[in-house]
Amino acid sequence: MALSETLTTNGTTKGTKTNIGIVGAGIAGLGAAVALRRAGHDVEIYEKSSFKREIGAAILLTPNANRILRRWGFNFDKARPVDFEQFRLVNGTSLEVIERVDFGGVEEHFGDRMCAYHRVDLHTGLRELAEKEGAVTHLGAEVIDVSPEEGIITLQSGRKVQKDLCILADGCHCPFLEKITDEDIPTRKIGKSVYRWLAPMEKVLEHPDAAKLWNGEGAGFCTFSEPKSGNMMVTYPCRSGTLLNCAVFHDTRPDEIHKVDWNANTTHERVLEALQNCHDAVKHIPMTAEQMKVYTVTQRPPSTRIWRGKMLCIGDTVHHMLPTHAQGGCSALEDAAALEVLFDSSTVSSCPADLARRLDLYTQLRLPRSATTQILSSTNPWLTMEQVAKKTEEIRRFYDGHLVDWPKGLGPWSAPIRDFWYSYDIIEEAEEAMKYKDSGKLPEGWKWFGEVRERMGGGS
Ligand SMILES: Cc1cc2nc3c(=O)[nH]c(=O)nc-3n(C[C@H](O)[C@H](O)[C@H](O)COP(=O)(O)OP(=O)(O)OC[C@H]3O[C@@H](n4cnc5c(N)ncnc54)[C@H](O)[C@@H]3O)c2cc1C
Repeated sequence: MALSETLTTNGTTKGTKTNIGIVGAGIAGLGAAVALRRAGHDVEIYEKSSFKREIGAAILLTPNANRILRRWGFNFDKARPVDFEQFRLVNGTSLEVIERVDFGGVEEHFGDRMCAYHRVDLHTGLRELAEKEGAVTHLGAEVIDVSPEEGIITLQSGRKVQKDLCILADGCHCPFLEKITDEDIPTRKIGKSVYRWLAPMEKVLEHPDAAKLWNGEGAGFCTFSEPKSGNMMVTYPCRSGTLLNCAVFHDTRPDEIHKVDWNANTTHERVLEALQNCHDAVKHIPMTAEQMKVYTVTQRPPSTRIWRGKMLCIGDTVHHMLPTHAQGGCSALEDAAALEVLFDSSTVSSCPADLARRLDLYTQLRLPRSATTQILSSTNPWLTMEQVAKKTEEIRRFYDGHLVDWPKGLGPWSAPIRDFWYSYDIIEEAEEAMKYKDSGKLPEGWKWFGEVRERMGGGS
């Protein structure tokens, strides 16, 4: 079946417009839709949900992601994100500030914002962009099977859709990953679960000691650690500062083990138990919100291949990571933005070998970066140097380039680690990689390679 269309001007072949199907309309899928429409292709998204349920949570995007949104004309004013000025670690019992990291100057230094969105606002903005660019979204369209070699996706209705290229962006529970990677790498539980909710800031500040914590302070993280239990409550504002996003990390309780999606309810009593040794001002915060949710944290080590035949995996589908450094969504946007450059229809040919070369090039560009991000996200400030050495060894399988200086870069908000992520400009990197589109091989020593290079590629 010929799906692609050769673009000609005055009889001269200019490139090829292809039909692309995207599975999942999360950050990765919607971002890919914007990027591939901008690259000149026909795009249809298949999303299983109907988006009637609000995801009551926030998300921080750092400059490496916000510069992509800016390029695409994202409506920041409408999305109402909150710019971050600082991180504070506070003793949850005494309210004493233990550590402070200043984010002042991040925007000037990295050229874009570090700001938190209500997830619904970010999602709505991305969806509007995708639709404005002309992507077609099918809601309530669950994909139940895929045939990577043929580029076929099967919908629950029984309908089969064949595309020139399919993008799998169905998130960390993707049941098709092994068909693409040929690797059985299951998600793992880390023994922690999270109680989460959004609190109205106005009500939080009604407690006089809570008011002291936030009044007169710049926006950003205010993280409470509770020394006795080791539980942590991460908080930060979103939606113009009207809501406080809260997440209590605690040891998974037996009945929480299987709650791995975002929609399981829990009770205020449960949350208060996790905060039992905390100051009243901290315990007051969950009481200001109506609904509490719980989910159990999972992660997965990197895959060594990300495409097969006519199917490419992006976002959490292939690089599900811990939220320690706020890079999962940022990486999903980087994946998407790379598609815009590497699959620019004016440079694509209808020859199947061209698709394979580009997918190989895409792998070489993205996998070393996303795998490194995944591995770094599984580090935390309490790691010993011995464990850091192990992490570095893992990273070196994928990536040979500059890494952060240990131990200075151990903290997730430390300057070296900020430099590593926030200075990355995927568009510049992808444009550089495009110089090698005819061979599909980045040259020896190209900055992001590691030993996995030899096993990259997704041809059958
Ligand atoms: C507690 C927590 C905090 C986080 N904080 C941050 C942060 O501050 N910054 C950051 O950058 N990242 C953060 N992340 C990570 C970030 O949320 C994810 O990396 C990001 O949402 C992944 O987007 P995605 O589009 O790949 O997947 P998803 O958001 O999971 O989207 C997948 C989509 O596919 C759909 N779908 C699934 N299966 C099918 C199917 N069979 N057929 C059709 N559709 C399907 C789903 O309904 C969904 O809409 C955090 C994660 C957690 C858990």
